[in-house]
Amino acid sequence: MIRINHLNKKFKKLIALNNITVQFDEGQVVSLIGPNGSGKTTLIKTILGLVKPDSGQIYFRDKNIKQEGFTYRNEIGYMPQIGRYPENMTIGQLFSLLKNIRNKDENSLDYDLLKQYNLVSMYDKPMRTLSGGTRQKVSAAIAFLFRPPVLILDEPTAGLDPLSSEVLKEKILQTKKEGTLILISSHILSDLDDLTTDVMYLQDGKMKFFKNLATIQEDTGEIKLGKAIARLMKGEDPAANMISEILKTNR
Ligand code: ADP
Ligand code: MG
Repeated sequence: MIRINHLNKKFKKLIALNNITVQFDEGQVVSLIGPNGSGKTTLIKTILGLVKPDSGQIYFRDKNIKQEGFTYRNEIGYMPQIGRYPENMTIGQLFSLLKNIRNKDENSLDYDLLKQYNLVSMYDKPMRTLSGGTRQKVSAAIAFLFRPPVLILDEPTAGLDPLSSEVLKEKILQTKKEGTLILISSHILSDLDDLTTDVMYLQDGKMKFFKNLATIQEDTGEIKLGKAIARLMKGEDPAANMISEILKTNR
């Protein structure tokens, strides 16, 4: 569904994406993992057309997104790491604006998260007055609103309280069952345990591996994603080594 071919991106001298080639298909929940600054958000933004790569191609349903304009984005629900909104607009106004732009049948919309997060009772609040957590809830509700066939969630649980985080994970699980392609970046690996079908590991802009979860579990003998990744990356990534050491001392 999304095919990425020899993608490169530099910010001045910094190599943010280094020759990434990968493919994501329907029904997959791909966990995008890697240390801070490894290029996760940059990769996500190039898929969305928000960051322009220096070279390489991205295909959405076999069409080069460069030639697609932005129409393909109607098929993607995106929850940004940091949501930026018109700050004087109220939550209610923001949702009506989005609905007017997309112009989809009212009956087809998914208000589940809006309801579960009680956002309707806050419709009159301007965006600038919201706490970080509430802003995240708004971003989450927007991502799911139009029942997109592709969901891209950038650090979705960061900043959410534990209960709201569980609500979101449950929602992602349900959506997974409907065959939606879901791409989640997170460094809270325990959040990904019940969701992941495939893992893409980035380090310094390079893809270290792209593997099916079952294969990772077999290769490492570990069920939990955090432990399995720590084993795989042992000797490669200082952060993974540290996790691995901590796990050892806790045994
Ligand atoms: P991650 O999401 O994995 O934490 P990012 O994709 O946000 O990593 O960043 C990858 C690298 O690119 C980091 O070193 C970051 O500082 C740099 N970077 C990201 N966006 C910009 C930008 N707009 N200008 C300059 N450097 C950037
Ligand atoms: Mg990021």
